[in-house]
Amino acid sequence: MSKKPTINAMKNYDVTIIGGGMVGLTAAIGLAQSGFSVAVIERAPKEDLTAVVYDGRASALAFATCCMLEALGIWRHMEKFAQPIKEIRVSDGPSLLHLHFDHKALGEGPLGNMVENRHTRIALFDRVAELENIHLFQGEEIETMERSTDKAVVTLASGTQVHSRLLLGTDGRGSMVRRSAGIPVSVFDYKQHGIVCSIEHEFSHEGIAHERFLPAGPFAILPLTGNRSSLVWTEKAHLIKTIMALPERSFAAEIQRRAGDFLGQITPVGGRWAYPLTLQYADTYTDTRMAILGDAAHGIHPIAGQGLNLGLRDVAALVEVISDSAKVGLDIGSPQVLDGYAGWRHADNAALIGVTDVLNRLFSNDVAPVRAARDIGLAVVNEIPPLKNFFMSHARGTVGELPKLLRGEAP
Ligand SMILES: Cc1cc2nc3c(=O)[nH]c(=O)nc-3n(C[C@H](O)[C@H](O)[C@H](O)COP(=O)(O)OP(=O)(O)OC[C@H]3O[C@@H](n4cnc5c(N)ncnc54)[C@H](O)[C@@H]3O)c2cc1C
Repeated sequence: MSKKPTINAMKNYDVTIIGGGMVGLTAAIGLAQSGFSVAVIERAPKEDLTAVVYDGRASALAFATCCMLEALGIWRHMEKFAQPIKEIRVSDGPSLLHLHFDHKALGEGPLGNMVENRHTRIALFDRVAELENIHLFQGEEIETMERSTDKAVVTLASGTQVHSRLLLGTDGRGSMVRRSAGIPVSVFDYKQHGIVCSIEHEFSHEGIAHERFLPAGPFAILPLTGNRSSLVWTEKAHLIKTIMALPERSFAAEIQRRAGDFLGQITPVGGRWAYPLTLQYADTYTDTRMAILGDAAHGIHPIAGQGLNLGLRDVAALVEVISDSAKVGLDIGSPQVLDGYAGWRHADNAALIGVTDVLNRLFSNDVAPVRAARDIGLAVVNEIPPLKNFFMSHARGTVGELPKLLRGEAP
């Protein structure tokens, strides 16, 4: 953001979104479906974002999130890649005490669905292509970004100037939008990495997600379509280089040792990825004609598979606040409107940030009294149906003051 390029075109939109990841594109779709014109500025080319090597993760999408994706016309593009999560089994190392969630206990649909991020990204691009009021500035670098009380102006390196009434930052953990507003962010390094890969296995997973708490941290085996699962193996940071360099057979043996034999023979397939795990949260979510959403506002530990779900809850709340405000003639970039979004999301996000942080600290250590206490905790929750149902409703994302989109209602 240094030199001023020659301006060769000036374009006007209602909203400019910086960052065309999963949260940014969903926000664009939600706003476009509500009748707004939207510009999305994303620096990575589409081919990179949808390439197999770009993102090896699969996300557990809560039931409410899937309802939202359906209401936005995205789900039909990704449905065939979705594996319903019917049960979740949580266990602590070799302890026999465990926690078991079964969707049948609530008498409703699955707890959620597992979908590989790559398929979600492709589905989002497919849906964006159907909406005329979204303009993608893909593979574009930003030169300058200015906000004043009456408009936001983003100048691209290509010389195009994008004007709008509201700027959204969905540009991830290192958010330039957040930094440009000087919003302070708290960061905590867990000194852990999440090793991610897909595995094929001999026996069916039967739609069951397993979370095992091992001394280095959680080891999750999450069901994908077919006899495949996605692994999130939390490990201490100083061991990552060695594990990532293991020959294929040794890597498979390490996985098998941690997973046990309930899936039969396990074979890792495709690549390996390692993500450094940190907690970070922004002090505020808004500034003059600007709001941040998704990882730009809060990045959490993947222990509960909730980071993307939280970001999409931000989107649902923002779309509702903005649409309702526009209907009664309010300026969508005014502090009054943006405060409505920030107030709604701050409390909900803070609660989950706290829970995931405590869970990771509690379960990533091998101190005997702590282990005994947490095992009893798991067993107690398992034996008290109302408590268990409460946690299950959280996993389904159906708790709290839900925006319409999360209830499956179109904006
Ligand atoms: C190991 C692991 C497992 C996880 N599993 C789950 C799970 O099961 N369920 C779940 O809900 N969540 C999960 N998460 C969290 C989830 O992946 C993230 O919360 C989510 O990807 C955040 O999406 P985002 O769109 O906010 O940010 P990002 O994915 O970071 O996207 C930001 C986008 O902005 C673009 N960008 C950045 N800067 C600029 C700029 N200056 N100009 C233009 N474009 C820019 C980037 O290129 C990128 O496309 C997991 C995370 C990890 C690490």
